[in-house]
Amino acid sequence: MSIDERVGGGPESRAWFERAKRVTPGGVDSPVRAFGAVGGTPLVIREARGATIVDVDGREYLDFVGSWGPLILGHGHPKVVEAVEAALKRGTSYGAPCMPEIELAEEVVASYPGLEQVRFVSSGTEAVMSAIRLARAATGRDLIVKFSGCYHGHADALLVAAGSGLVTFGQPSSAGVPKDFAALTRVAPLDEISTLERLFDADGDRIACVVIEGVPANNGLLVQRKAFLEALRALCDRHGALLILDEVITGFRLGPGGAAERYGITPDLATFGKVIGGGMPVGAFGGRRELMRLLAPEGGVYQAGTLSGNPIAMTAGLATLRILRAEDGWRRLEALSDALAERIEPVLAKSPVPATLVRMGSIFWIAWFASEPPRSAESLDPRTSAVYAQVFHALLERRVALAPSAFEVGFLSLAHEHADLDRFADALAGALSSIENV
Ligand SMILES: *Cc1c(COP(=O)(O)O)cnc(C)c1O
Repeated sequence: MSIDERVGGGPESRAWFERAKRVTPGGVDSPVRAFGAVGGTPLVIREARGATIVDVDGREYLDFVGSWGPLILGHGHPKVVEAVEAALKRGTSYGAPCMPEIELAEEVVASYPGLEQVRFVSSGTEAVMSAIRLARAATGRDLIVKFSGCYHGHADALLVAAGSGLVTFGQPSSAGVPKDFAALTRVAPLDEISTLERLFDADGDRIACVVIEGVPANNGLLVQRKAFLEALRALCDRHGALLILDEVITGFRLGPGGAAERYGITPDLATFGKVIGGGMPVGAFGGRRELMRLLAPEGGVYQAGTLSGNPIAMTAGLATLRILRAEDGWRRLEALSDALAERIEPVLAKSPVPATLVRMGSIFWIAWFASEPPRSAESLDPRTSAVYAQVFHALLERRVALAPSAFEVGFLSLAHEHADLDRFADALAGALSSIENV
């Protein structure tokens, strides 16, 4: 399929997207949705249920995007919908403390290693931005460290060689971020302990915090060695810097204790989003009481939000976490991931382009031109996007929806059944046999 033949959405999607482009920059409210990395027109979605999304042309797709991670139970889980409907009848927002907010905070604090207090915000971006402000206040230092290949939302301090859509669009950072802000952020490669050591040797007494994704999942799935995270934890301790684990994707997806529990690492601060909102706009950050008490109104670190702790969003998150617990969700997702590997690995073994399935719990990704799972952004093959664009569209024609970027991961949900995985494997086999010109 040549680039010009890449279609994506049908006539109704195309008509709606034309309207969108007139009134919205690029037709979208978040850049990766525009299909820029794969070509063609985005699907404009009418509705979604379980593992299926339906576009405005009435075409049904088996969905592995899951709204980019939140929908761990699948779309419109009946019990979540029921809880939200009941909450709606009690009003949509109070601007005052409410019961589901307190209950969700109790659930998060009880589940996550080292967490004593949490504060809710409305997005992952806000969560990381606020955690960094807190870390700077707690240490009295200004420098922060992030890793290339990690994405932490779009706060100014973090739009420095960030991953996700930015890598896809070939921009190392964003216009509009003052050089002086970016100068306070150091960017290190993943998986290189020696580079970290040099960084801390040079600037250790000026570093407020190091922020890293629990499992980097915004630039492919770059599963880190335990030794790397342990070295990072030790360096932070030795130099008095705080470790922020960004668990916006991994929190309550890999398990109730996120990546921290998997790796046996306790961060000083952790950030959450996606799953804890059950599909509603939610973020959170938390840590030890002694750190969290620095936040207003107890302390001098200002942080606030009109819709923070919103009762509808808190109810959706709480229902999601309760269902995961009651229905043995995390263990079932592990089994589903094994079932996915059983089906996909033999298909990839016959791929005309070397490809490796990478997975961690219910997160999966295909590494192209790789014979083993990559651990750093720098090690990804530059031909990845070109191959992926072909595979993506060939899958879409077969009514299977992966993310419209080679560097975005896929998500399994409890709504996916073994038959869905069979369908995915068949579609992938067909898609791979259609690849041209690599
Ligand atoms: C999605 C994401 C964010 C940003 O969350 P938003 O809700 O999109 O602002 C931050 N960190 C990580 C690891 C993410 O995956």
